[in-house]
Amino acid sequence: MARRPLVAGNWKMHGLQSASGEFDKIVAGARSLPGVELMVCPPATLIAGFAAAARGSSVLIGAQDCHALASGAYTGDISAEMLKDAGAAAVIVGHSERRHYHGETDATVRAKALAAKRAGLLAIVCVGETRAERDTGRAAAVVRAALDGSVPDDLVDFVVAYEPVWAIGTGLTPTPADVGDMHRVIREWLGSRPGKAGERTRILYGGSVTTANAKELLAVDNVDGALVGGASLKAQDFLAIARAYR
Ligand code: PEP
Repeated sequence: MARRPLVAGNWKMHGLQSASGEFDKIVAGARSLPGVELMVCPPATLIAGFAAAARGSSVLIGAQDCHALASGAYTGDISAEMLKDAGAAAVIVGHSERRHYHGETDATVRAKALAAKRAGLLAIVCVGETRAERDTGRAAAVVRAALDGSVPDDLVDFVVAYEPVWAIGTGLTPTPADVGDMHRVIREWLGSRPGKAGERTRILYGGSVTTANAKELLAVDNVDGALVGGASLKAQDFLAIARAYR
């Protein structure tokens, strides 16, 4: 089964309203990239504006996090329903920065993935090992356990993002062979799920993807796209990474 590549940009806590010019360039560039699905995950404050600017284009808007519940007395939080209402089509859950700085566990991530499903958002579930876990030969087991804990049994439409924690924002990347090994592990894990999850679910690689390494990393078997942090903030670089699929 052919899986349409997805290149998603995680803007993290970057971007004021004035960033709309950069986003407009991504929307314009997407016209010459029909084979690749492009998504931008801006800060929540920019979702509605970007969604309006993307209307009529193929660019999707994603959020970076959501609360597990639809509404309630949770000051400062944003529900999946609110993100959908603002124009998001997807939400990242379980990013390592959320797990690390906000103490999110697999159970939290699972609840957020369920919230995404409830609201009709595509969940992009992030998993990845630390440097110590890789160095002690536990990377595959850690990733399998994170998937077991973070992906609800009845979740059908979702994306897995493999993001080694030590590669995020560091300029370091695993070798293409190591990426291939881990994506095979994840593909096998998906194969154990009901339905056609093993074939249809996209697995993104994330962690220091740049214009310089995109071609090599995105050519690896079972890499169905990329989750791009720093390099997604410049439209030119983000589009060049997506063009690596041609
Ligand atoms: C990320 O935060 O999801 C990420 C991959 O960041 P970077 O590309 O900057 O390493």
